[in-house]
Amino acid sequence: MKTINDLELEDKKVLIRCDFNVPIKRGKIIDDTRIKESLKTINYCIDKGSKLILFSHLGRIKEESDKKDKSLKPVAERLSELLNKKVIFINETRGKKLESAIDKLKNGDVLLVENTRFEDLDGKKESKNDKELGKYWASLGDVFINDAFGTVHREHASNVGISSNIDSAIGFLVEKELNILSELKCPNKPFILILGGSKVNDKIGVIKKLVKKADYILIGGGMAFTFLQSEGFNIGNSILDTDSIDFCRDILEKYPNKILLPVDVNVSTEFSNKKESITRGITEIDDEEMGLDIGENTVKLYEDYLKNAKTVLWNGPLGVYEFSKYKKSTNKILKYLVDNNIKTILGGGDIVAAAASAKLKDKVYHASTGGGATLEYLEGKKLPGVEAIK
Ligand code: AMP
Repeated sequence: MKTINDLELEDKKVLIRCDFNVPIKRGKIIDDTRIKESLKTINYCIDKGSKLILFSHLGRIKEESDKKDKSLKPVAERLSELLNKKVIFINETRGKKLESAIDKLKNGDVLLVENTRFEDLDGKKESKNDKELGKYWASLGDVFINDAFGTVHREHASNVGISSNIDSAIGFLVEKELNILSELKCPNKPFILILGGSKVNDKIGVIKKLVKKADYILIGGGMAFTFLQSEGFNIGNSILDTDSIDFCRDILEKYPNKILLPVDVNVSTEFSNKKESITRGITEIDDEEMGLDIGENTVKLYEDYLKNAKTVLWNGPLGVYEFSKYKKSTNKILKYLVDNNIKTILGGGDIVAAAASAKLKDKVYHASTGGGATLEYLEGKKLPGVEAIK
């Protein structure tokens, strides 16, 4: 596949699809990891003497009022600090102002276009890959680099749309993600999958795809309760994914020694960090209680399985890690993996955020920037953003 190294970049107008979908509160960026991860490709193009035109989405835009908090202006400011150079921000996604700013760019200049999803207010043009929009954006540059791994599983105008119209390649970040994920085709064994998060439904594809390859699948988080319910345990008020009960029962029946479930859980009567909690054995959950984290005995049991692991892939936290009370098991197991030098790949989204807040993200082998893209890749699905470049 064509990578950034294969492109002629000097003196060229280079369109780059970045992933600047960062959390912003009251105009302030809470976590700039994604911006930092884009720097390698951006700096490379600056050094090569390109004129850079950057695109990204930020959140979802369903109505006019969503635009207020979803401008990329704060990103332009932060990027400018990180690059130590001016970033020209254009608060439009098309039109004269954008076009004339691009015409004035000199080699090494950086311009950021407003949130691509502002186009979604007009018939979801970005998210539905409107042909005319992709063609228009492509017309603004000479070459295109897709460096937004977080959206490669989507067919949008700002990735597939542009790359269908001009010479395109993947950037350093997408290349790195794909290389590491491809290592999972033949992982060093024992290979253990850790799955948590809220819903089973989102992870059925991955379980089906990897159940044969994995030596064990350790289940935690909210999704554990659908598995437990399917086995006849009383799960009280714990989160339940009714549509997935049959799947859980069937897969447990087929792989009884491979899929491991919690033996104890931390429960409370409220979904909050304030109400007291208690650890219960898995047969002792009361009707009014809900499980919000796996218990200490489960952590020990899972560590015992992980002891000899050569590769670990982890998607989804083992408890409600957003509450300090219920992030303990996720943090303990993360630390166990790091302390024991176990090759660990974190599959995006919440587990990466949990690792970052525990200051362990940079210590694991790889923390993927795209949760959905990682899962779809692992399910064996084609990634449209990559296919369009191939
Ligand atoms: P997912 O996007 O499916 O990976 O889910 C991540 C979410 O799962 C996080 O927001 C967690 O708070 C949530 N989660 C983890 N454990 C539980 C649980 N026991 N009950 C409810 N939600 C949970």
